[in-house]
Amino acid sequence: MEIFKSTESEVRVYSRAFPVIFNRAKNAHLYTEDGKEYLDFLAGAGSLNYGHNNDVLKKALLEYIESDGVSQGLDLFTTAKHDFIESYKKHILEPRGLNYKMQFTGPTGTNCVEAALKLARKVKGRTGIISFTNGFHGVTTGAVAATGNKHHRGGVGTPLGNVDFMFYDGYLGEDVDSLAIMDKVLSDGSSGFETPAAVIVEAVQGEGGLNTARAEWLQGLEKLCKKHDMLLILDDIQAGNGRTGEFFSFEFAGITPDMVTVSKSLSGYGLPMALVLFKPELDIWESGEHNGTFRGNSMAFVTARTAIETYWKDDAFANEVKARSKVLGDALQSICDKYPGEFHVKGRGLMRGIEAKNAELTDAITARAFEKGLIIETSGPNDEVIKCLMPLTTSEDDLKKGARILAESVDEIMQEGISEAS
Ligand code: PLP
Repeated sequence: MEIFKSTESEVRVYSRAFPVIFNRAKNAHLYTEDGKEYLDFLAGAGSLNYGHNNDVLKKALLEYIESDGVSQGLDLFTTAKHDFIESYKKHILEPRGLNYKMQFTGPTGTNCVEAALKLARKVKGRTGIISFTNGFHGVTTGAVAATGNKHHRGGVGTPLGNVDFMFYDGYLGEDVDSLAIMDKVLSDGSSGFETPAAVIVEAVQGEGGLNTARAEWLQGLEKLCKKHDMLLILDDIQAGNGRTGEFFSFEFAGITPDMVTVSKSLSGYGLPMALVLFKPELDIWESGEHNGTFRGNSMAFVTARTAIETYWKDDAFANEVKARSKVLGDALQSICDKYPGEFHVKGRGLMRGIEAKNAELTDAITARAFEKGLIIETSGPNDEVIKCLMPLTTSEDDLKKGARILAESVDEIMQEGISEAS
């Protein structure tokens, strides 16, 4: 433990809340060096939708490695990439009527956001981007400029520009039509607001506190983008890959974004991989204009393709996720019902949580849950939302067990009061 504290940078986050040493993991469980078992409702911050060390994906990966499959292929044509593209087209894009080209970027979410913003600016020949209150899109300089969070913005050390923030659905209360405000300033040549190249949005704001956009709002946003000639970039990095019970988080709204950013659970095995999907006519890149050594992770292609062919050939898995979402939603609702006015349920699908009045409360509750064997984190502008992000493959028993630990932790902290607990 000491070597981490003395040698690893202070920038680390999760290891502060969960200060133990893990050495093994399986599906929704993490195990420490000294044999303690934890239920994992964090799941690599949404990058392990199919669980830790998923047996089917592991087998495919081990066979690929054993056969000396290409491990690093730059953007060369490889069998692994070919098979992934073919599978993604056949099982994901075509059944949803989506016709997108694919750009493999550097392997993290923020890398594909950078690529999407850069391409949008190049296509439209404009510098501006509209993002939304509480949006989170990554921490590299371009992406963090489109991120609302003060803490992350503050870490950059250089002015962040060319992004305007508008109000996310519900931000100003249920009665305020935030799209009408946006339309007004974009339509008024004297508002001081210049038409941007693109709008970037999450259908469920993961880091921003599990705020959800309604279908009508997303449809209205799509129309507004067309009206003002702006590209619509849907950031599906956290809410995608099945998390909401549909493969893409925007399917329920029936919209077709101009670009979609995908990462986190794309590889299915926690291997880094990121992708931008965009309408074919937007592909005006010149060769190598947006480059990088690790664009397309061969091993991730293998596990990603296997995940698609295991879970997304039909609706069975999506239906299981929807059923588990109901179990989780009911469990969280009963926690909130016990303390009227103190907590309320937020989110959609298996991306749900409970909002408390402040971070003191959520910190005390999640710390107590950790003592009881549950790993769960907070999100929201002030960390006031406890966020459940367990693998989609979590068994119903484990889901209920985790929810029970959470409920017990809430009860204990509410009885003890925060100062005694901390
Ligand atoms: N976009 C969204 C919606 C995210 O939730 C995240 C990470 O949480 C990112 C972008 C950035 O991804 P990464 O941390 O892999 O750079």
